Amino acid sequence: MALQGLPNTLSNHLANRAVCRFAPTCSGSAHPGTLLAAMLAYLDAKKNDARFVLRMEDIDPSSVTDHWRSTLLKDLEWFDIKGDCFSWQSENTSAHESMMDQLALTQRLYACNCSRAKIARAGQASLAGGWVYPGTCRSLTLQDWRSSNANIRINLEGIKISLKDQSGADLSQEPSIAMGDPLLVRKDGSFTYHLAVVADDHLAGVNRIVRGRDLASSSAIQVALRQLLGWPVPSYRHHLLLLEERGQKFAKFHGAVCLTDLQKHYSPDQLRGVLAHACGLIGQARELSFHAALSVFDWQSVRSDDLVMHWDGKRLSF
Ligand code: GLU
Repeated sequence: MALQGLPNTLSNHLANRAVCRFAPTCSGSAHPGTLLAAMLAYLDAKKNDARFVLRMEDIDPSSVTDHWRSTLLKDLEWFDIKGDCFSWQSENTSAHESMMDQLALTQRLYACNCSRAKIARAGQASLAGGWVYPGTCRSLTLQDWRSSNANIRINLEGIKISLKDQSGADLSQEPSIAMGDPLLVRKDGSFTYHLAVVADDHLAGVNRIVRGRDLASSSAIQVALRQLLGWPVPSYRHHLLLLEERGQKFAKFHGAVCLTDLQKHYSPDQLRGVLAHACGLIGQARELSFHAALSVFDWQSVRSDDLVMHWDGKRLSF
């Protein structure tokens, strides 16, 4: 709870308490990778006596549905993931708007009319996969972002971010070159991941971010946005991903199995044991409550490389 009468950011600061979060996108049912990420963020929070924020990210109009909102929440409840604070990202619109208002003061916002195909033709591969936006529309600076019906980006040219992950990974970057100026608002008026995640983390006073390695390359953009606003920078830790084989490639463990299938064969404690074993916390899979998991949790024991898992219709293995 916030100290009476004070916003979360300030009360956490005064209470000098770490604030961690788990912030899944409501675009599908939980899969083993979601549950591993939730478990590691939760254990990290408990180990550090931190406040744990559960934020359901539900603003991407292309992937979020009411069905996935309620399904994912139920999945996390089944796995015993509960936040000390809970929020739906879609209810934080005023924080997203206010962040845009503050970014507008930097005179770095611009309207962008480039299609994906045009950006791809420029041919600069991005660290995150996809293509770097080459800055074509930077001269279309925006005074009033609210009345624009174009995509809105922010010019990050010249900003260099020096950043070390808590696992030791160097995430330093010049984001406008490595990733391209990020999109903040889509032409349909919806806010993007980068804008919303920074606004929401700041609103909740999050100062310790634990998440999957697929987001590591996004951190420098998020730090750049914070720096432009004079907001404090949290610590970051990016952990292993669970992968599955798709054809000749490996992808995040999304498609092979969903929670309804897992629930037929595992209790929450059994599944926690399998995931704790997979990531290196225990030598053999066994039933593991969160309480028991906390007593063995230590980042030194968590493997750093990604792990390919298999699902044979009954059992997970690696
Ligand atoms: N919502 C993002 C996802 O599910 C994670 C956001 C974050 O941790 O920054 O991939």
